[in-house]
Amino acid sequence: MKRVRLNLDLTSVIVMIAAGVLLPVLLSTAVGIVALVAAENTTGIVTGVLIISFTVTAAGCGLLALVFAGRKARLARQQADFIANISHELRTPLSAIRLYAHTLHSGKLRDDPEETERCIATILRETSWLDVMIERVLTWRASSKDMMELSMKTRPVAKAVRGAMDRFSSLVPPGEVSLSCAIETSQCVKHDAEALSAVVLNLLTNAYKYTGSRKEIAVGVEDRAGQVVIEVKDNGIGLSPVEARHIFKPFYRVERGDTSRTGGIGLGLAIARKLVVRHGGSISVSSEKHKGASFIISLPAVEGDS
Ligand code: ADP
Repeated sequence: MKRVRLNLDLTSVIVMIAAGVLLPVLLSTAVGIVALVAAENTTGIVTGVLIISFTVTAAGCGLLALVFAGRKARLARQQADFIANISHELRTPLSAIRLYAHTLHSGKLRDDPEETERCIATILRETSWLDVMIERVLTWRASSKDMMELSMKTRPVAKAVRGAMDRFSSLVPPGEVSLSCAIETSQCVKHDAEALSAVVLNLLTNAYKYTGSRKEIAVGVEDRAGQVVIEVKDNGIGLSPVEARHIFKPFYRVERGDTSRTGGIGLGLAIARKLVVRHGGSISVSSEKHKGASFIISLPAVEGDS
């Protein structure tokens, strides 16, 4: 016997629920109204009211089912995208590492110390990208379950910012990015240096990923009206106002195929916002399509104790 396989996706199920609930609800409401209008005695009125009450309850249940089905569909889609994106993110550096390791292993570069050095440097850089990616996933898991303990100390943010810049420099090929820095702050901020460094590093790696071949990134730190402001500015592809509104949401990504390292899992900025908010600060972006982006972190300045 041949089995018929129903190939229904969740959207079709939602449409079917909507149609299946909407039609009976409309019919039943009409019947209820007719019963009320035509009622000649108390029994007629009670019947009409009962029909309408039943209809309202059924409509409410249908609506709830729709909301749950929609949420389930969204979660399933997010999960599938996340797995695809993270696999891609891990596979890209792994492939490069494998390729360069094979080249070294083949002995072809035995007499070429310069090229050997270049291969080893690339392997190390790609390993660092892997590290950053894995750290990001673990931080997301910890932060979304509120399992992340922050070690808050009152001190200037310069060290955390410089730490992020050093780590960023170890991720990118020498000379590929023009990275400038102006740290002009004398105020302290109560912060976890590691967490703040991770936030700035995420902004730097994004600035790198979403710029064309002439990459210019400027980092600035300054005191502004009781706040310490950290700015990471690039000359990249920028964001439309709609994209800018969504980028801090978990798993949101703008798909495009025109930059060299576009991979991502859409968690970096969501983590950044969570961490900045836990520091009592805020993070925002100002950008225009094709005119670069400027990310600004504002943290409350406090009296220093160090
Ligand atoms: P991802 O891992 O995808 O980079 P993020 O949360 O860090 O995740 O960023 C979310 C989205 O915001 C990215 O997919 C990208 O489209 C956009 N974005 C982030 N930083 C920049 C930037 N400096 N310039 C342009 N677009 C950016």
